[in-house]
Parts: sequence; structure tokens; C-alpha cells
Amino acid sequence: MEFVNPEGLRLDGRRPMEVCCFQSQFPPFRLSGSAVFEMGNTKVIAAVYGPREVQNKSQLSNDQALVRCEYTMANFSTGDRKRKPKGDRRSTEISLVIRQTMEACILTNLMPRSQIDIYVQVLQADGGTRSACINAATLALADAGIPMRDLVTSCSAGYLNSTPLLDLNYLEDSAGGPDVTVGFLPKLDKVTLLQMDAKLPVDIVENVMQLAIEGCKAIATYIREVLLENTKQLEYRRGP
Ligand code: UDP
Repeated sequence: MEFVNPEGLRLDGRRPMEVCCFQSQFPPFRLSGSAVFEMGNTKVIAAVYGPREVQNKSQLSNDQALVRCEYTMANFSTGDRKRKPKGDRRSTEISLVIRQTMEACILTNLMPRSQIDIYVQVLQADGGTRSACINAATLALADAGIPMRDLVTSCSAGYLNSTPLLDLNYLEDSAGGPDVTVGFLPKLDKVTLLQMDAKLPVDIVENVMQLAIEGCKAIATYIREVLLENTKQLEYRRGP
């Protein structure tokens, strides 16, 4: 199958190194923080509770906050392709990956003896749901006022028919080619997550990873703008 046509366009009209268009909202739920994040046709919601009292006292830490994360896919998120909404191996793995990524950016040492719960749910899936969930979780944590050392963002990149492609959609992802998902701290210039599906030639790895990092940087610029705009609106509503 051809993933880039002779005019240099992908199946969804993007260029190989072009990231999907992003959109976000802060739904007015009665919880600490929440955000909806869209990357192309993938749409996810993140909700944050805390810092609050630790429910399971055996997990309480005197030095840092306990971070928990649950990733689920809504039954309607993928049509008939959906297998199991939660509790399967894939959801457990993605929950763990997102928790570790978010833990790397939260200043947990400032909130000892407390617990922060992050719930992420996929509303519409078209590839790259774990990246979209990390981006939504970053927005929701900022909305909740949780102190963070940086805004962690995530993006995927793949390699199909000898062409590196940024931010794969479902069709590109399911073509079976290698792909990487990167989590990146833009201010600290550090990679906090690197996952790879299938084998990637050694001389190509750096290229594809760098492409994913560029995607993360573009998302970070967008997220920073959204947060600044949101803060301005809050100040405006509060008045002088
Ligand atoms: N997918 C699906 N049903 C499932 C799991 C995944 O249709 O039960 C689709 C969905 O579009 C997802 C894509 O397969 O985005 C790729 O899934 P993967 O496990 O690679 O994780 P993701 O790329 O979403 O982080």
C-alpha cells in the first residue's frame, strides 16, 4: 500500500513531517482539573483529582505524593475494532507508561503524604492515543494547579516504505511498520519516554526519534499558548 502519494501527501492530506492539528478545551467539571485534547481524529479526556488524602494507607509515602493513572477506551471510541474497554494487558501497560511519564514531571516531593489520581479516557481513537492522553494529562494537571518541573508532551513517529512519518494515524499505525512514541520535557530538553513497536534499522532510529521530538516541541508550544490564554481568561473573569 502507498502511504505517501507522488505529490508527497499522506492518506489524510498531511505531509510526512506534519503533525495533526490540535485542539483542546477545559470542560467545567467539579474536580481538581480536566482537559479534552484532540490530535487529528483522536480525541481524549483527562481528569485529575488531588492532591488528596491517600486512600490505601500502605501506599502512603512521607517523602512524596503517590501518582496513580488509569487509561480506558470508551466502548464507542473505535467502532467494532474495540476489544476490551479496560483491564486488558494493553490498557494496563498504557496506564503504567502514562503514570511513569507524568511522575517524571510532577514535583511529587512538594506534596508528601498525598495522592494524585489521573484518569484518561479515549473518546475517539485514530492512532496515537497514549500520546494524546499524555498531552491531555499535562493540560489537566496544569488546570488542577499541580506543581510541575516542565510541561511533558508526547508524539509518535514511524517509518513506512522508507519514509519517516510524524504522528501516525490508525491506518499508518496498523500497517505493521516500526514506530516510536516519545515523551519529552521541552524546557529541560530531556526525553522521559521512549517506546518502540517493531524493529527499526539502527541508522534510522535517531532520525525517527528526532522527528517525534520535533512533534513534541510543536505540541509544547501549543499547550503553552493554551495555558497562557486560559490564565488570562481566569484573570479577566476574576476582575481587578
Ligand atoms: N485500537 C483499536 N482497538 C483496540 C486497541 C487499539 O481500534 O482495542 C486502535 C486505536 O485506533 C489505536 C490504534 O489501534 O489508536 C493503535 O493502538 P496502539 O496499541 O498502537 O496504541 P496507540 O497508538 O493508540 O498509543
